[in-house]
Amino acid sequence: MSDKTCGESVSDGIWNRKPCANPAKVERNGKFYCGVHDPVRLAKLRSKQDAIYADRFEARNKKHQIERAAPELLAALQALDDACCADLEDRENRITFRKALISGRVAIAKALGETT
Ligand SMILES: [Zn+2]
Repeated sequence: MSDKTCGESVSDGIWNRKPCANPAKVERNGKFYCGVHDPVRLAKLRSKQDAIYADRFEARNKKHQIERAAPELLAALQALDDACCADLEDRENRITFRKALISGRVAIAKALGETT
């Protein structure tokens, strides 16, 4: 295979394409490719890159969910802070505390992207 060259075309650096001058390393479906242009290697690289982009998209999406829920999370924490200092022997205070807990759970679900 060393007498063959890669069958891919590459840019000449301006406007045109020219044949790749690298020696062929692999044959795929009757066509020869160098190590740079091997379609199997390129497909693996693309697959890895797609997985990296998908992970980044997912992380960015989670970050935005938390940012959107931040005001509700803060309000729920403040309500809990207020409610937990009250006398919980009092029925109204227990109701207020329970409402604050529920608000907190709703805010957490929103931050996690769960529908309620
Ligand atoms: Zn090549």
